[in-house]
Parts: sequence; C-alpha cells; structure tokens
Amino acid sequence: QFITFEGTEGVGKSTQLANAASTLENLGVDVLVTREPGGTPMAEHIRELLLATRDEVVHETTELLLMFAARAQHLHTRILPALDAGQWVLCDRFTDATFAYQGGGRGVSQERIALLENLVQGNVRPDHVILFDAPVETGMARARRRGELDRFEQEDLEFFQRIRNTYLDRANEAPDRYHIINAARPLNQVSEEVVQLLTGLLSP
Ligand code: C5P
Repeated sequence: QFITFEGTEGVGKSTQLANAASTLENLGVDVLVTREPGGTPMAEHIRELLLATRDEVVHETTELLLMFAARAQHLHTRILPALDAGQWVLCDRFTDATFAYQGGGRGVSQERIALLENLVQGNVRPDHVILFDAPVETGMARARRRGELDRFEQEDLEFFQRIRNTYLDRANEAPDRYHIINAARPLNQVSEEVVQLLTGLLSP
C-alpha cells in the first residue's frame, strides 16, 4: 500500500504519520516512512534549496520543476523499490501537495501539473490519501508558534485557503481513494480515526 498524508500547515499530519507507522509496525507490517519534498539524500538537498532560498524570489516554474525533480528521484529510487519489496509506504506529502500548493496556492494550472505528474510518475498514484483538514487559522497558529511560516511571509490567509480548498476539491472528486479527517479535534481522537482507517485497509 502506498499511503500519503496531506494537509495545510500545522494540521498535525507528521505526528499522525509517526503514530500510524508505529501502530502498523506493531501489527507486523513492514513500513517505510518517508516525506516530500525529500526522502533521498539528493531530494533532501532539493528540499533545502526550496525551503531555504531567501536571497532571491523563486519563480513558480522553478519551484514546480524542483518539486518534481525531487519526486522523480524519491519515487524511482526509494518508493517503488519499497512497494516492490512488499513494504507499506507512508509518505508525508506527495503530488496532491503540488496540486494544492503550487497549483491552488501559486496559481500554476492543474493541466501543467498533471503533465509533469504523468511524465514523472506514469500511472503511479497513491493507493490512499489521508487528508488532515482544519480551518487554516487553526493550523497556522500552531505552525507560526513553531516558526514554520517564515517562507510564506509574503502570503495572505487566502493563499492558505486556496490550498485547503484545492485539497478538499481533489478529495471530493475521488472519495474511494481520499479520506478526509477532521483535524480540528484533539490529537487522540484524530489518531484513533487514522488507526481505524489503516487497520481497515489491513483486513478489508
Ligand atoms: O510537510 P512539511 O510541513 O514538512 O513541508 C515543508 C514545507 O514545504 C511546508 O511549509 C509546506 O507547505 C511546503 N511545501 C510546498 N509545496 C509542496 C510541498 C511542501 O510549498 N508541494
């Protein structure tokens, strides 16, 4: 199973991913935990480039191509071999984040993103996408406390709202693959729902 964890800033997806991984491991599942952008040494360098560039404005096309360059390396050298070996891959963000951030957020057309998606991934898509959804103000307050919003200082609330809406639109288009989880609730309630979802996939 290839399962991705998605959501806007500060919705708690990384905490949930760590918890889900240990639950699955306890049930005997061989799990690979990874993230995007990143997941291989080279792709982590690209992540650094993307997140740490401060001294020039990064053009949206550059950002898009770097995301997919990192993804190509990650998918082909790490994710696909793991899936072939029978592991479950839990990935913190994947192409849905590109549709949401570079598409909904920065305004790159969905067609352009889909073109690169097909080029880089062929017909590989996550089996399941867990979307952690919460009002953007809720998550942003958390993310700001952790100093994670620095690179978005030029952006307004609407930027994050477009991201959330793009995620929700995509999820509503394919409800069999997308699972929307209300992440505005206490952590333990959220993780309970995630565990239920994953154990359901284990023994359908
Ligand atoms: O998932 P995480 O919060 O670690 O992501 C690091 C940063 O990269 C976040 O601020 C996220 O919003 C951003 N990002 C992005 N476009 C993507 C993936 C991540 O702007 N496609």
